[in-house]
Amino acid sequence: MLVDTHCHIHESNYRLPINDVLDRAKQANVIKMLCVGTDSNSSKEAVSFSKQHRETYATVGVHPHESTEGYAVVENLLSTKKDEIVAVGEIGLDYYYDNSPRQIQREVFEAQLQLAVDAGLPVIFHIRDRVDNTKNESVWKDFWSIFYNFPKLSGVLHSFTDNISNLETALSEGLFIGVNGISTFAKDKQAMWDTIPIEKMLLETDAPFLTPVPFRGTVNEPAYVRNIAEYHAKRRGVELSELAFLTSKNASELFSI
Ligand SMILES: [Zn+2]
Repeated sequence: MLVDTHCHIHESNYRLPINDVLDRAKQANVIKMLCVGTDSNSSKEAVSFSKQHRETYATVGVHPHESTEGYAVVENLLSTKKDEIVAVGEIGLDYYYDNSPRQIQREVFEAQLQLAVDAGLPVIFHIRDRVDNTKNESVWKDFWSIFYNFPKLSGVLHSFTDNISNLETALSEGLFIGVNGISTFAKDKQAMWDTIPIEKMLLETDAPFLTPVPFRGTVNEPAYVRNIAEYHAKRRGVELSELAFLTSKNASELFSI
């Protein structure tokens, strides 16, 4: 069994017929999927979608790209639909695109971390650095200084593509590391991905984005978690069943699913 811990197939602009997508996931033994909210609308859609499809689970959050819209809907969903929500996210800081002013990103991020603590839910973090991540302006400096104010948080660094130093810090803080299709084609970071302990690894597609090899150029879907799992099992010389079991156990543990 496999779990796709990060996808956006619940959004109304997802282009593939959803019943076929869920069938192919089942055939690939991807039996649980987290539908991750990125803004007010997407968070509401995640909650209603997960009610209709029992293999899917909802998370709610406002992505750093959308910080200027505020987090009122997230707060509202957490107070009215808490039992249907398994995590807060994806939330964080994005200094690569800088689609929202950084100060607003930080404020909205911190507010949502407090909501997660209050709700007792884990967090799905989206943290992306500027291109030249010189030490003083690195997104990680801001991220860790905010993170350390919330010692009770658990969570996952989704789509982690950064360096070994930040990986080690994340692991020492007990965070899980989200690995997706990028790891099947970004050859320059293989050494970093290879050092992630399987006991801390979560698999994800980020569908419809980041389609893994050998499906590059097509719309991503949860079934392809299997290809990501096969890729890393082969690199590590472990059985697919072992990697699938351990990463699914991690997902169950973090998200209580
Ligand atoms: Zn995403």
